[in-house]
Order: sequence, then structure tokens, then C-alpha cells
Amino acid sequence: MESPKPILDFEKFDDGFVQKLVYDALVWSSLHGLVVGDKTHQRSGTVPGVGMMHAPIALLPTPFPESYWNQACEVAPIFNELVDRISLDGKFIQDSLSRTRKADVFTSRLLEIHSKMLESNKREEIRLGLHRSDYMLDEETKSLLQIEMNTISCSFPGFGRLVTELHQSLLRSHGDHLGLDSKRVPRNGSTSQFADAMAKAWLEYNNPRAVVMVVVQPDERNMKSLAEVETEGRVHEDGTLTVAGQAVSVVYYRSGYTPRDYPSESEWNARLLIEQSSAVKCPSIAYHLAGTKKIQQELAKPGVLERFMDNKDDIAKLRKCFAGLWSLDDPEIIKKAIEKPELFVMKPQREGGGNNIYGDDVRENLLRLQREGEEENAAYILMQRIFPKVSNVFLLRDGVYHKDQAISELGVYGAYLRNKERVIINEHSGYLMRTKVSSSDEGGVAAGYAVLDSIYLN
Ligand code: ADP
Ligand code: MG
Repeated sequence: MESPKPILDFEKFDDGFVQKLVYDALVWSSLHGLVVGDKTHQRSGTVPGVGMMHAPIALLPTPFPESYWNQACEVAPIFNELVDRISLDGKFIQDSLSRTRKADVFTSRLLEIHSKMLESNKREEIRLGLHRSDYMLDEETKSLLQIEMNTISCSFPGFGRLVTELHQSLLRSHGDHLGLDSKRVPRNGSTSQFADAMAKAWLEYNNPRAVVMVVVQPDERNMKSLAEVETEGRVHEDGTLTVAGQAVSVVYYRSGYTPRDYPSESEWNARLLIEQSSAVKCPSIAYHLAGTKKIQQELAKPGVLERFMDNKDDIAKLRKCFAGLWSLDDPEIIKKAIEKPELFVMKPQREGGGNNIYGDDVRENLLRLQREGEEENAAYILMQRIFPKVSNVFLLRDGVYHKDQAISELGVYGAYLRNKERVIINEHSGYLMRTKVSSSDEGGVAAGYAVLDSIYLN
């Protein structure tokens, strides 16, 4: 039998044509700000507008089945709602993470802030969630499986939209030759939808003089780092947060998700200070914790989703995306993972890429934990390894392209805004495809493993 023709038959494109595409892609990227800091340039990152380079990208959008795309969009608002419900269940968060707390100092510090909020009966009336749920298409089971749910500092909503527009533009110019239709690259409203949600949160706060504060890692401009918030910030009797005398309505964290963002007690003090205020936090400590890998694993246990959701269809839709997830106190699964480590990924309670354990290292680490005792077990979860389809792609970095075998991960953004009982926004809000050479285990773009991509529906 003849095998199905690939949508993008890369063999048929000669180098001259690909070079033309590359040239157009580079020009488009420069003109539209699809650029990143160029680390080889000395003044990059210190002088705005100096030392920039096109972002690492896939030259063409990666084919993605329309049915799975629809599925990922459909579950986005359900996941948003789930995060919100979890955030209201302080006991579930504390209980689920009680063992993690002993094994992981970072999670324990976050939980400490969360406990303080529970003790003082602090309520978040206006709740803003800007999420990204990541998926891979598992070839084996032919299903869309969730990698993780990000509830803090979700990266690249801006680039997501740009790379989509780049691909649409290339297809409008060269679609005939490529045999591709630009309309099959779905519209991507990530930037404007996230901005809109932040603006509406600002409106709900209802203080026209208050600002939106973006909390960043140190050395960025026109924004505040946690350490600066500690020195300049104050919570007034009525709950208002002021930083350098300026009232703050919405706090957006582009930082605060890794232990590196808390080099001293100052940063922890600032996080607590913000949490105690009435400002809308994106995310609140409860939303942040609801996105931990441990909670993801707890949710996959039988009966747990039912604690938060009533609608059986919604529960079934969420469960369909769950991969196998286990804690390390399950001896059966540990035995299996030691025998066949290539079928598992071992994950610590960290965000931001580069932390997971794969292959033979899974076996070694599990054996080490067996020797060294129980306590540290709780610092990890085990996850079924997902094996996406490998396809040929053109990766573009540093102005040059190369062809490679790659796999992709689709992130679907979701925005949620609610004021008490009134849900103001709950929608899927654009997407980001990340594509990486199939020989690499990890997936981060900023971490240098992957390139930015969009999708071509088939
Ligand atoms: P992080 O919080 O560091 O982003 P992730 O859970 O997203 O952690 O894992 C990082 C990367 O590792 C993912 O982007 C993906 O490429 C890869 N990965 C994670 N889980 C799996 C899995 N179960 N199967 C295959 N690859 C995975
Ligand atoms: Mg991730």
C-alpha cells in the first residue's frame, strides 16, 4: 500500500527556494519584532534596541490534526475553571503538597504564604488566570495528552501570535509553490486576549489611578523586581498595595516561579506583602500552587476531579487528556520504571525547563532514592513518557536553516477573569507550538532546546 503523502514534502524543495523563504522570514521577523536578545552582543540586554537577533523559529508551520486542535481549544476553559475551583480549596492544596513540603524547600515556602492567607481568612474576590496548557500528540495511543498546566509566568503569548503571523505571511506569498493554504494556520489572538484580560482585571479593581505592575527578574527596565517591591512596597489598612507611592491594581508575575527568583528573604517578604494586599494577583499563591506538578498528579487519581467539577462531560474531557501520573510511593510503578525507564519521565517540583529526568537517569535516580530513604521521594512525580510523531522540519537559528527530525508540543493559552460569582472571561486565548529536534528530551525555547512554531491544520 502506498503510504499517505506528507503535507509538506520537503524533499521536493530545492535549496534556492528554501533560501528565498528564509530570507523573507528573516526580513519579516526584523520588521515585526520577532526578535530576541543576541547573547553574543556585548550591550545586548543593557541598551534597549541594541544587539537583537531573529527568534529561533520553524520556517514553516507544523501539520497538526484539526480534531486535536479543536479538542485542545475545547478543554481550555474547563481547565481554567478547574484551577479556579482548586484555588478555593485550601485544604486540598495543603494536603496534596504536605509531603512535598518536607522534601522541597521552595514549595514549602510557597505553602507557608498560602497557610498564612488561609489563617487570616484572606479571600481573592477578583481572580485573574493567564494559563497555558501544554500537550503532545502521543503516536502510540493516538491521543492528545497534557504535559503540564502552567499558571505562572506563561511564556511567549507575544511570540505565539507573531510566529503565527509570520507563517501566514509566508504562505500567502509562497503558498502556491508550497501547496499550502494560509487559511489553515489558525488565527492567534494570544497577545491581545491576554492584554484584554489584564485590562478588564484593572477595570474590575475600579481605581483609575492604580497601575498594572509587572514583576520581573532583576535588570529589566520600567518594571519592578521582587526586591524592589520589598523596599518600596506597602499594604495600607484598606488593602491597597502601593509601590513607590503608586497604587497597584494588578500584579503580573514574569518572575517568582523558580527558587532563583528568591535569592534572599527580601523576595519572600515581597511575595507575602503582595499576597496580603487587595491587588489582583496573576497568579495568586493558590493559583500558583494549583499549577504544580504534584497537584497535576493528584488530579489524575480516580475520583479527584469529581471533587471540583459536577459536569460529567467536562470531567470526561479533562480525563481524556491525562497521561499516566504517579507518586513515588507506588512500589508497582517504581518497579516498572526501573525495568523500563525509557517509558517514564521523572519530574521534580520545578518550572522553567531543564529539570526533568529521562532514560537511564530515571533508573539511577529511583535506585538511589530506594537506598537513601523515603523523604526525598516526595520531591518527584513520575509521568508516562509521551512519544509524538517525528517529522521533517526546517529550523531557523542565527540566520541559517537546517533540516532535522523534530517533535512538537502545542501550548494553548487560556484566560480567566472572575469577580466573586461573576465570570467575566473564560476562553481559550491563542496558542504556541514549540518544535524541537527529536533527539532532545527537554523542550524550552528560552532554555535553547526548541524553536517557536505554529500549526497547519490537516
Ligand atoms: P517545565 O515546568 O520545566 O516546563 P515540563 O513538564 O513542561 O516542565 O517538561 C519540560 C519538557 O520536557 C516539556 O516541554 C517536554 O518537551 C518534555 N516532557 C515533559 N513531560 C514529558 C512526557 N511525559 N513525555 C515526553 N516529554 C515530556
Ligand atoms: Mg513546560
